[in-house]
Amino acid sequence: MNPAEPPPPAGRRNRIVLPATCSVHQAPRGRTTVAVSKLPDGRIEFDPHLSGACVFAVEEDELIKVLLRMGWR
Ligand SMILES: [Zn+2]
Repeated sequence: MNPAEPPPPAGRRNRIVLPATCSVHQAPRGRTTVAVSKLPDGRIEFDPHLSGACVFAVEEDELIKVLLRMGWR
């Protein structure tokens, strides 16, 4: 985080907004957003477009398996 930025509001400290691409809505690369949050139960939640229309949560262990399978080190 940039030290000049104010801290995120309470309840949003485990939330990161990533630049992304949506093939459905045809937005240019990196021109849409996905909010990624860590839930109190440890799951990682994804909110594409920050709309709340389709929010899904993944077990942290499963997400780590994906990263390892994709060659993340
Ligand atoms: Zn979309």
